[in-house]
Amino acid sequence: MHVVKCPDCMKEYEEHKKKWKYGRFDVEAYSCECGTDLREYKMDGKHSFALKKSKHDNRWKKT
Ligand SMILES: [Zn+2]
Repeated sequence: MHVVKCPDCMKEYEEHKKKWKYGRFDVEAYSCECGTDLREYKMDGKHSFALKKSKHDNRWKKT
């Protein structure tokens, strides 16, 4: 199974909390107890890129 880890504390996320379509992408949103949010963008079921937002920096950034 595909494992997604928090880019800041490396903890493995459990199930995504939300999922939606963004153009040709499927977006899956994760949230870590350390305060970092991650959005993974997939196209045709494959990882394309991910954005993260930490509690220290309130902007979305590519991981
Ligand atoms: Zn974390």
